[in-house]
Amino acid sequence: MHNKTIAELSTGLKDKQFSSEELTRHFLDRVKRLDHKLNCFITLTEDVALEQAKRSDKILQNGDAHPLTGIPVAQKDIFCTKNIKTSCGSKMLDNFYSPYDATVIEKMSDAGAVLLGKTNMDEFAMGSSNETSFYGPVKNPWDLHTVPGGSSGGSAAAVAARIAPAATGTDTGGSIRQPAALCGVTGLKPTYGRVSRYGMIAFASSLDQAGPLTQSAEDAAIILSAMAGFDTRDSTSTDIAVPDYTSTLANNISGLKIGIPKEYFSNALESGVQSAVQDALKEYEKLGAKLIDIELPNSGLSVPTYYVVAPAECSSNLSRFDGVRYGYRCDNPANLEDLYKRSRGEGFGQEVKRRIMIGTYALSAGYYDAYYLKAQRLRRLISNDFSAAFKKVDVIMGPTTPTTAFKIGEKTNDPITMYLSDVYTIAVNLAGLPGISIPAGFSDNKPVGLQLIGNYFEEAKILNAAHQYQLVTNWHRQIPDAFS
Ligand code: GLN
Repeated sequence: MHNKTIAELSTGLKDKQFSSEELTRHFLDRVKRLDHKLNCFITLTEDVALEQAKRSDKILQNGDAHPLTGIPVAQKDIFCTKNIKTSCGSKMLDNFYSPYDATVIEKMSDAGAVLLGKTNMDEFAMGSSNETSFYGPVKNPWDLHTVPGGSSGGSAAAVAARIAPAATGTDTGGSIRQPAALCGVTGLKPTYGRVSRYGMIAFASSLDQAGPLTQSAEDAAIILSAMAGFDTRDSTSTDIAVPDYTSTLANNISGLKIGIPKEYFSNALESGVQSAVQDALKEYEKLGAKLIDIELPNSGLSVPTYYVVAPAECSSNLSRFDGVRYGYRCDNPANLEDLYKRSRGEGFGQEVKRRIMIGTYALSAGYYDAYYLKAQRLRRLISNDFSAAFKKVDVIMGPTTPTTAFKIGEKTNDPITMYLSDVYTIAVNLAGLPGISIPAGFSDNKPVGLQLIGNYFEEAKILNAAHQYQLVTNWHRQIPDAFS
Protein backbone atom coordinates (compact mmCIF):
# COMPACT_ATOMS: atom_id res chain seq x y z
CA MET A 1 0.00 0.00 0.00
CA HIS A 2 2.82 2.40 0.81
CA ASN A 3 3.97 2.86 -2.77
CA LYS A 4 0.62 4.25 -3.82
CA THR A 5 -0.15 7.94 -4.29
CA ILE A 6 -3.02 9.69 -2.50
CA ALA A 7 -5.04 9.49 -5.72
CA GLU A 8 -4.55 5.71 -5.84
CA LEU A 9 -5.14 5.20 -2.11
CA SER A 10 -8.32 7.22 -2.36
CA THR A 11 -9.61 4.91 -5.10
CA GLY A 12 -8.62 1.88 -2.98
CA LEU A 13 -10.59 3.27 -0.04
CA LYS A 14 -13.67 4.03 -2.13
CA ASP A 15 -13.54 0.59 -3.77
CA LYS A 16 -13.24 -1.03 -0.31
CA GLN A 17 -9.92 -2.73 -1.13
CA PHE A 18 -8.87 -1.65 2.38
CA SER A 19 -10.26 0.56 5.13
CA SER A 20 -8.74 3.77 6.43
CA GLU A 21 -8.06 1.98 9.71
CA GLU A 22 -6.04 -0.71 7.89
CA LEU A 23 -4.22 1.91 5.87
CA THR A 24 -3.44 3.98 8.96
CA ARG A 25 -2.20 0.92 10.88
CA HIS A 26 0.03 0.05 7.92
CA PHE A 27 1.72 3.47 8.01
CA LEU A 28 1.93 3.55 11.83
CA ASP A 29 3.66 0.19 11.62
CA ARG A 30 6.09 1.44 8.95
CA VAL A 31 6.97 4.48 11.06
CA LYS A 32 7.61 2.25 14.08
CA ARG A 33 9.77 -0.16 12.10
CA LEU A 34 11.72 2.31 9.97
CA ASP A 35 11.82 5.77 11.48
CA HIS A 36 14.64 4.98 13.91
CA LYS A 37 16.89 5.09 10.83
CA LEU A 38 15.58 8.48 9.70
CA ASN A 39 14.26 10.50 12.68
CA CYS A 40 11.41 12.04 10.66
CA PHE A 41 8.85 12.16 13.46
CA ILE A 42 8.94 14.22 16.65
CA THR A 43 5.51 12.94 17.69
CA LEU A 44 3.55 9.97 16.40
CA THR A 45 -0.15 10.60 17.06
CA GLU A 46 -1.30 6.99 17.07
CA ASP A 47 -4.50 7.39 19.13
CA VAL A 48 -5.71 10.44 17.23
CA ALA A 49 -4.86 8.76 13.92
CA LEU A 50 -6.87 5.61 14.69
CA GLU A 51 -9.82 7.62 15.94
CA GLN A 52 -9.81 9.80 12.80
CA ALA A 53 -9.42 6.70 10.61
CA LYS A 54 -12.52 5.13 12.15
CA ARG A 55 -14.42 8.38 11.62
CA SER A 56 -13.27 8.40 7.97
CA ASP A 57 -14.38 4.81 7.45
CA LYS A 58 -17.92 5.83 8.43
CA ILE A 59 -17.85 8.74 5.96
CA LEU A 60 -16.50 6.44 3.25
CA GLN A 61 -19.34 4.01 3.93
CA ASN A 62 -21.87 6.79 3.40
CA GLY A 63 -20.26 7.49 0.06
CA ASP A 64 -19.65 11.24 0.36
CA ALA A 65 -15.90 11.24 0.75
CA HIS A 66 -13.34 13.89 -0.26
CA PRO A 67 -10.19 12.60 -2.05
CA LEU A 68 -8.34 13.09 1.27
CA THR A 69 -10.86 11.21 3.40
CA GLY A 70 -9.08 8.47 5.31
CA ILE A 71 -5.58 9.31 4.01
CA PRO A 72 -2.84 9.52 6.68
CA VAL A 73 -0.85 12.76 6.41
CA ALA A 74 2.17 13.86 8.45
CA GLN A 75 2.16 17.51 9.56
CA LYS A 76 5.27 19.62 10.03
CA ASP A 77 5.71 20.39 13.72
CA ILE A 78 5.33 24.12 13.00
CA PHE A 79 1.51 23.85 12.76
CA CYS A 80 -0.35 24.18 16.05
CA THR A 81 -2.34 21.05 16.86
CA LYS A 82 -4.84 21.15 19.70
CA ASN A 83 -3.65 19.27 22.79
CA ILE A 84 -0.76 17.76 20.84
CA LYS A 85 2.84 18.83 21.31
CA THR A 86 3.89 21.55 18.83
CA SER A 87 7.63 22.03 19.24
CA CYS A 88 8.73 23.87 16.08
CA GLY A 89 11.93 21.82 16.40
CA SER A 90 12.98 23.82 19.47
CA LYS A 91 13.76 23.22 23.12
CA MET A 92 11.85 26.48 23.63
CA LEU A 93 8.57 24.73 22.76
CA ASP A 94 9.41 21.18 23.83
CA ASN A 95 6.72 21.48 26.54
CA PHE A 96 4.15 23.37 24.41
CA TYR A 97 0.74 21.80 23.84
CA SER A 98 -1.26 24.16 21.67
CA PRO A 99 -4.78 25.07 22.87
CA TYR A 100 -6.01 25.32 19.26
CA ASP A 101 -5.54 23.97 15.71
CA ALA A 102 -3.88 25.91 12.89
CA THR A 103 -6.19 26.63 9.94
CA VAL A 104 -4.19 24.19 7.79
CA ILE A 105 -4.76 21.43 10.36
CA GLU A 106 -8.45 22.30 10.65
CA LYS A 107 -9.01 22.35 6.89
CA MET A 108 -7.23 19.07 6.30
CA SER A 109 -9.10 17.43 9.11
CA ASP A 110 -12.40 18.78 7.68
CA ALA A 111 -11.46 17.13 4.37
CA GLY A 112 -11.06 13.87 6.27
CA ALA A 113 -7.25 13.54 6.36
CA VAL A 114 -5.87 11.43 9.21
CA LEU A 115 -3.16 13.02 11.38
CA LEU A 116 -0.29 10.52 11.41
CA GLY A 117 2.12 12.62 13.47
CA LYS A 118 4.26 15.74 13.63
CA THR A 119 7.49 15.88 11.66
CA ASN A 120 11.00 16.97 12.52
CA MET A 121 12.29 20.28 11.20
CA ASP A 122 15.04 22.84 11.59
CA GLU A 123 14.54 24.91 14.74
CA PHE A 124 11.86 27.53 14.00
CA ALA A 125 12.31 26.59 10.30
CA MET A 126 15.75 28.19 10.17
CA GLY A 127 18.04 25.92 8.21
CA SER A 128 18.59 24.00 5.00
CA SER A 129 19.64 20.62 6.35
CA ASN A 130 17.52 19.76 9.39
CA GLU A 131 20.65 19.88 11.51
CA THR A 132 19.45 22.79 13.67
CA SER A 133 16.60 20.73 15.17
CA PHE A 134 16.58 20.23 18.95
CA TYR A 135 15.50 16.64 18.18
CA GLY A 136 18.58 15.79 16.13
CA PRO A 137 19.15 15.62 12.40
CA VAL A 138 16.91 13.79 9.93
CA LYS A 139 18.66 11.38 7.53
CA ASN A 140 18.06 11.33 3.79
CA PRO A 141 16.52 7.93 2.87
CA TRP A 142 18.57 7.84 -0.37
CA ASP A 143 21.84 7.95 1.58
CA LEU A 144 21.72 7.92 5.37
CA HIS A 145 24.98 9.86 5.60
CA THR A 146 23.45 12.85 3.85
CA VAL A 147 20.96 15.54 4.87
CA PRO A 148 17.34 15.58 3.67
CA GLY A 149 17.44 19.37 3.23
CA GLY A 150 15.44 21.72 5.37
CA SER A 151 13.67 23.09 7.06
CA SER A 152 10.84 20.66 6.18
CA GLY A 153 13.30 17.74 6.14
CA GLY A 154 11.25 15.37 8.30
CA SER A 155 8.25 15.75 5.99
CA ALA A 156 10.28 15.30 2.79
CA ALA A 157 12.19 12.26 4.10
CA ALA A 158 8.97 10.66 5.39
CA VAL A 159 7.34 10.88 1.96
CA ALA A 160 10.52 9.73 0.17
CA ALA A 161 10.76 6.65 2.43
CA ARG A 162 7.00 6.08 2.06
CA ILE A 163 6.46 6.05 5.80
CA ALA A 164 3.80 8.70 5.14
CA PRO A 165 1.74 8.97 1.92
CA ALA A 166 2.04 12.78 2.07
CA ALA A 167 3.07 15.58 4.39
CA THR A 168 2.96 19.34 4.81
CA GLY A 169 5.76 21.86 4.99
CA THR A 170 6.38 25.58 5.14
CA ASP A 171 8.61 27.60 2.84
CA THR A 172 10.17 30.94 3.81
CA GLY A 173 13.18 30.76 1.51
CA GLY A 174 13.00 27.26 0.06
CA SER A 175 12.03 24.97 2.93
CA ILE A 176 9.47 22.96 0.94
CA ARG A 177 11.18 22.92 -2.46
CA GLN A 178 14.79 22.35 -1.36
CA PRO A 179 14.09 19.26 0.82
CA ALA A 180 11.69 17.98 -1.88
CA ALA A 181 14.55 18.21 -4.39
CA LEU A 182 17.10 16.54 -2.10
CA CYS A 183 14.71 13.69 -1.19
CA GLY A 184 13.22 13.12 -4.65
CA VAL A 185 9.63 14.13 -3.87
CA THR A 186 7.22 16.79 -5.10
CA GLY A 187 6.99 20.01 -3.04
CA LEU A 188 4.78 23.01 -3.71
CA LYS A 189 5.10 26.51 -2.24
CA PRO A 190 1.90 28.39 -3.06
CA THR A 191 1.57 32.12 -3.78
CA TYR A 192 1.96 34.24 -0.63
CA GLY A 193 -1.55 34.62 0.79
CA ARG A 194 -2.99 31.48 -0.84
CA VAL A 195 -2.85 29.43 2.39
CA SER A 196 -3.69 30.83 5.83
CA ARG A 197 -0.78 31.29 8.22
CA TYR A 198 -3.06 31.22 11.28
CA GLY A 199 -1.62 28.84 13.83
CA MET A 200 1.56 28.31 11.84
CA ILE A 201 4.41 29.43 14.08
CA ALA A 202 5.83 32.57 12.45
CA PHE A 203 9.43 32.84 11.26
CA ALA A 204 9.39 35.68 8.68
CA SER A 205 5.76 36.67 8.25
CA SER A 206 6.07 38.37 4.85
CA LEU A 207 7.70 35.25 3.36
CA ASP A 208 6.24 32.21 5.18
CA GLN A 209 3.83 30.02 3.23
CA ALA A 210 2.53 26.48 3.83
CA GLY A 211 2.26 23.80 1.17
CA PRO A 212 2.23 20.06 0.47
CA LEU A 213 5.09 17.54 0.10
CA THR A 214 3.82 14.57 -1.90
CA GLN A 215 4.79 11.81 -4.30
CA SER A 216 3.16 13.46 -7.31
CA ALA A 217 1.87 16.78 -8.64
CA GLU A 218 -1.61 15.26 -8.70
CA ASP A 219 -1.38 14.65 -4.93
CA ALA A 220 -0.10 18.20 -4.40
CA ALA A 221 -3.17 19.45 -6.29
CA ILE A 222 -5.45 17.38 -4.04
CA ILE A 223 -3.88 18.74 -0.84
CA LEU A 224 -3.66 22.34 -2.05
CA SER A 225 -7.35 22.30 -2.98
CA ALA A 226 -8.09 21.37 0.65
CA MET A 227 -5.61 23.62 2.47
CA ALA A 228 -5.92 26.88 0.49
CA GLY A 229 -8.42 29.67 0.99
CA PHE A 230 -9.26 32.98 2.61
CA ASP A 231 -9.22 33.06 6.40
CA THR A 232 -10.51 35.98 8.44
CA ARG A 233 -7.95 35.05 11.12
CA ASP A 234 -5.02 35.81 8.76
CA SER A 235 -5.16 39.36 7.40
CA THR A 236 -2.58 38.48 4.73
CA SER A 237 -4.61 35.61 3.27
CA THR A 238 -6.21 36.49 -0.05
CA ASP A 239 -9.91 36.43 -0.80
CA ILE A 240 -9.74 34.67 -4.16
CA ALA A 241 -11.82 31.55 -4.82
CA VAL A 242 -9.92 28.26 -4.62
CA PRO A 243 -10.18 26.27 -7.83
CA ASP A 244 -10.19 22.48 -7.89
CA TYR A 245 -6.53 22.18 -8.84
CA THR A 246 -7.02 18.60 -10.04
CA SER A 247 -9.47 19.64 -12.76
CA THR A 248 -6.81 21.24 -15.00
CA LEU A 249 -4.04 18.66 -14.62
CA ALA A 250 -4.93 16.88 -17.87
CA ASN A 251 -4.68 20.04 -20.02
CA ASN A 252 -2.39 19.77 -23.00
CA ILE A 253 0.78 21.88 -22.57
CA SER A 254 1.67 22.12 -26.24
CA GLY A 255 2.69 25.73 -26.94
CA LEU A 256 3.50 26.43 -23.26
CA LYS A 257 6.21 29.11 -23.10
CA ILE A 258 8.92 28.14 -20.62
CA GLY A 259 11.41 30.81 -19.54
CA ILE A 260 14.94 29.58 -18.80
CA PRO A 261 16.82 32.11 -16.65
CA LYS A 262 20.48 32.21 -17.63
CA GLU A 263 21.45 33.16 -14.06
CA TYR A 264 20.26 29.72 -12.85
CA PHE A 265 22.87 27.91 -14.96
CA SER A 266 26.09 29.48 -13.65
CA ASN A 267 29.27 27.89 -12.29
CA ALA A 268 27.59 27.33 -8.92
CA LEU A 269 25.51 24.55 -10.50
CA GLU A 270 26.85 21.00 -10.13
CA SER A 271 27.27 19.37 -13.54
CA GLY A 272 25.17 16.29 -12.64
CA VAL A 273 22.29 18.53 -11.59
CA GLN A 274 22.65 20.61 -14.74
CA SER A 275 22.47 17.63 -17.09
CA ALA A 276 19.42 16.12 -15.32
CA VAL A 277 17.65 19.48 -15.55
CA GLN A 278 18.56 19.83 -19.21
CA ASP A 279 17.16 16.36 -19.94
CA ALA A 280 13.94 17.36 -18.20
CA LEU A 281 13.69 20.48 -20.34
CA LYS A 282 14.11 18.33 -23.47
CA GLU A 283 11.18 16.25 -22.24
CA TYR A 284 9.11 19.43 -22.09
CA GLU A 285 10.08 20.25 -25.67
CA LYS A 286 8.83 16.80 -26.69
CA LEU A 287 5.53 17.68 -25.02
CA GLY A 288 5.30 20.68 -27.33
CA ALA A 289 6.53 23.41 -24.98
CA LYS A 290 8.83 26.19 -26.20
CA LEU A 291 12.00 27.09 -24.31
CA ILE A 292 12.74 30.82 -24.21
CA ASP A 293 15.91 32.35 -22.75
CA ILE A 294 15.17 34.97 -20.11
CA GLU A 295 17.11 37.07 -17.64
CA LEU A 296 16.51 37.69 -13.94
CA PRO A 297 19.32 40.25 -13.55
CA ASN A 298 18.88 40.85 -9.81
CA SER A 299 18.72 37.20 -8.79
CA GLY A 300 22.28 37.33 -7.44
CA LEU A 301 21.02 39.75 -4.79
CA SER A 302 18.33 37.45 -3.45
CA VAL A 303 20.35 35.57 -0.79
CA PRO A 304 21.87 38.73 0.78
CA THR A 305 18.47 40.49 0.65
CA TYR A 306 16.76 37.54 2.31
CA TYR A 307 19.37 37.40 5.09
CA VAL A 308 18.40 40.93 6.12
CA VAL A 309 14.62 40.65 5.72
CA ALA A 310 14.15 37.18 7.25
CA PRO A 311 16.30 37.76 10.38
CA ALA A 312 14.66 41.19 10.87
CA GLU A 313 11.20 39.64 10.88
CA CYS A 314 12.31 36.67 12.97
CA SER A 315 13.85 38.92 15.64
CA SER A 316 10.46 40.55 16.02
CA ASN A 317 8.39 37.33 15.83
CA LEU A 318 10.54 35.40 18.29
CA SER A 319 10.40 38.13 20.93
CA ARG A 320 7.20 36.44 22.16
CA PHE A 321 9.22 33.51 23.54
CA ASP A 322 10.20 35.09 26.83
CA GLY A 323 9.64 32.34 29.38
CA VAL A 324 6.60 34.10 30.83
CA ARG A 325 3.42 32.73 29.25
CA TYR A 326 4.38 29.46 27.60
CA GLY A 327 7.37 27.50 26.44
CA TYR A 328 10.69 26.97 28.18
CA ARG A 329 11.41 28.77 31.45
CA CYS A 330 14.81 28.69 33.17
CA ASP A 331 15.12 27.34 36.72
CA ASN A 332 15.05 29.73 39.68
CA PRO A 333 15.22 33.11 37.95
CA ALA A 334 16.69 35.81 40.21
CA ASN A 335 14.51 38.56 38.73
CA LEU A 336 12.53 39.36 35.54
CA GLU A 337 15.58 40.23 33.46
CA ASP A 338 17.34 37.05 34.50
CA LEU A 339 14.17 35.12 33.55
CA TYR A 340 14.17 36.62 30.03
CA LYS A 341 17.87 36.23 29.47
CA ARG A 342 18.29 32.70 30.68
CA SER A 343 15.00 31.36 29.27
CA ARG A 344 15.95 32.66 25.82
CA GLY A 345 19.63 31.84 26.21
CA GLU A 346 18.92 28.25 27.21
CA GLY A 347 15.80 27.69 25.08
CA PHE A 348 17.09 28.77 21.65
CA GLY A 349 19.79 27.05 19.60
CA GLN A 350 22.78 28.66 17.94
CA GLU A 351 21.32 29.39 14.48
CA VAL A 352 18.18 30.95 15.94
CA LYS A 353 20.28 33.19 18.19
CA ARG A 354 22.45 34.22 15.25
CA ARG A 355 19.36 35.28 13.29
CA ILE A 356 17.83 37.17 16.23
CA MET A 357 21.06 39.10 16.69
CA ILE A 358 21.47 39.93 12.98
CA GLY A 359 17.83 40.96 12.73
CA THR A 360 17.90 43.12 15.84
CA TYR A 361 21.01 44.84 14.52
CA ALA A 362 19.50 45.43 11.06
CA LEU A 363 16.40 46.99 12.62
CA SER A 364 18.23 49.17 15.15
CA ALA A 365 17.78 52.92 14.75
CA GLY A 366 21.24 53.64 13.36
CA TYR A 367 21.23 50.85 10.79
CA TYR A 368 17.60 50.57 9.67
CA ASP A 369 18.09 52.66 6.49
CA ALA A 370 21.39 51.06 5.59
CA TYR A 371 20.15 47.47 5.89
CA TYR A 372 16.43 46.93 6.25
CA LEU A 373 15.23 49.72 3.97
CA LYS A 374 17.87 48.86 1.38
CA ALA A 375 16.84 45.19 1.47
CA GLN A 376 13.20 46.18 0.92
CA ARG A 377 14.23 48.15 -2.18
CA LEU A 378 16.17 45.19 -3.54
CA ARG A 379 13.18 43.00 -2.86
CA ARG A 380 11.14 45.21 -5.19
CA LEU A 381 13.79 44.97 -7.94
CA ILE A 382 13.84 41.18 -7.60
CA SER A 383 10.06 40.92 -7.99
CA ASN A 384 10.12 43.38 -10.93
CA ASP A 385 12.47 40.96 -12.73
CA PHE A 386 9.83 38.23 -12.46
CA SER A 387 7.00 40.54 -13.58
CA ALA A 388 9.01 41.44 -16.69
CA ALA A 389 9.72 37.77 -17.41
CA PHE A 390 6.05 36.76 -17.04
CA LYS A 391 5.14 39.23 -19.81
CA LYS A 392 7.01 36.88 -22.16
CA VAL A 393 6.59 33.39 -20.70
CA ASP A 394 3.98 31.23 -18.92
CA VAL A 395 6.27 29.48 -16.46
CA ILE A 396 9.95 29.66 -15.49
CA MET A 397 12.02 26.50 -15.06
CA GLY A 398 15.45 25.65 -13.74
CA PRO A 399 17.18 23.64 -11.03
CA THR A 400 15.72 23.77 -7.50
CA THR A 401 19.12 23.50 -5.83
CA PRO A 402 22.74 23.93 -6.97
CA THR A 403 23.80 20.51 -5.59
CA THR A 404 22.30 17.19 -4.55
CA ALA A 405 22.11 16.14 -0.87
CA PHE A 406 25.33 16.92 0.99
CA LYS A 407 26.92 15.04 3.89
CA ILE A 408 25.65 15.53 7.42
CA GLY A 409 28.04 17.97 9.12
CA GLU A 410 29.55 19.17 5.85
CA LYS A 411 28.20 22.73 6.01
CA THR A 412 27.35 23.23 9.69
CA ASN A 413 30.42 25.33 10.41
CA ASP A 414 29.96 27.56 7.38
CA PRO A 415 26.61 29.35 7.48
CA ILE A 416 27.18 31.24 4.21
CA THR A 417 27.71 28.02 2.21
CA MET A 418 24.66 26.57 3.90
CA TYR A 419 22.63 29.69 2.98
CA LEU A 420 23.59 29.24 -0.69
CA SER A 421 21.60 25.96 -0.81
CA ASP A 422 18.60 28.24 -1.42
CA VAL A 423 20.16 30.38 -4.15
CA TYR A 424 17.46 29.38 -6.70
CA THR A 425 14.48 29.28 -4.34
CA ILE A 426 14.74 32.43 -2.19
CA ALA A 427 13.84 34.98 -4.88
CA VAL A 428 10.47 33.24 -5.31
CA ASN A 429 9.61 33.96 -1.64
CA LEU A 430 10.85 37.56 -1.86
CA ALA A 431 8.50 38.05 -4.83
CA GLY A 432 5.66 36.00 -3.24
CA LEU A 433 5.27 33.72 -6.27
CA PRO A 434 4.26 30.03 -6.38
CA GLY A 435 6.94 27.41 -7.09
CA ILE A 436 7.09 23.63 -7.23
CA SER A 437 10.00 21.19 -7.19
CA ILE A 438 9.54 17.83 -8.91
CA PRO A 439 11.89 14.84 -9.16
CA ALA A 440 13.88 15.01 -12.41
CA GLY A 441 16.39 12.18 -12.28
CA PHE A 442 19.52 11.41 -10.33
CA SER A 443 23.12 12.54 -10.14
CA ASP A 444 25.46 10.04 -8.51
CA ASN A 445 22.39 8.11 -7.21
CA LYS A 446 21.02 11.19 -5.48
CA PRO A 447 17.77 12.86 -6.53
CA VAL A 448 17.71 16.08 -8.55
CA GLY A 449 14.82 18.56 -8.45
CA LEU A 450 13.39 20.62 -11.29
CA GLN A 451 11.82 23.90 -10.16
CA LEU A 452 8.78 25.37 -11.92
CA ILE A 453 7.89 28.96 -10.99
CA GLY A 454 4.50 30.45 -11.86
CA ASN A 455 2.94 33.90 -11.87
CA TYR A 456 0.80 35.00 -8.91
CA PHE A 457 -2.05 32.56 -8.13
CA GLU A 458 -1.17 30.40 -11.13
CA GLU A 459 -0.65 27.25 -9.08
CA ALA A 460 -2.93 25.43 -11.52
CA LYS A 461 -0.55 26.17 -14.39
CA ILE A 462 2.59 24.85 -12.68
CA LEU A 463 0.73 21.82 -11.31
CA ASN A 464 -0.55 21.07 -14.82
CA ALA A 465 2.98 21.35 -16.29
CA ALA A 466 4.41 19.19 -13.48
CA HIS A 467 1.71 16.55 -13.90
CA GLN A 468 2.23 16.33 -17.68
CA TYR A 469 5.94 15.66 -17.08
CA GLN A 470 5.10 12.99 -14.50
CA LEU A 471 2.81 11.25 -17.01
CA VAL A 472 5.79 10.64 -19.32
CA THR A 473 8.53 10.02 -16.71
CA ASN A 474 8.75 7.86 -13.60
CA TRP A 475 11.35 9.64 -11.45
CA HIS A 476 8.62 10.44 -8.92
CA ARG A 477 7.89 6.70 -8.61
CA GLN A 478 11.41 5.76 -7.44
CA ILE A 479 11.80 4.55 -3.86
CA PRO A 480 15.13 4.10 -2.03
CA ASP A 481 15.95 0.35 -1.84
CA ALA A 482 16.09 0.22 1.95
CA PHE A 483 12.48 1.48 2.15
CA SER A 484 10.81 -0.23 -0.81
N1 GLN B 1 17.06 27.75 4.42
C1 GLN B 1 16.44 29.04 4.58
C2 GLN B 1 16.71 29.57 5.96
O1 GLN B 1 17.47 28.98 6.66
C3 GLN B 1 14.97 28.93 4.33
C4 GLN B 1 14.24 28.31 5.44
C5 GLN B 1 12.76 28.25 5.20
O2 GLN B 1 12.29 28.33 4.06
N2 GLN B 1 12.03 28.12 6.28
O3 GLN B 1 16.21 30.55 6.38
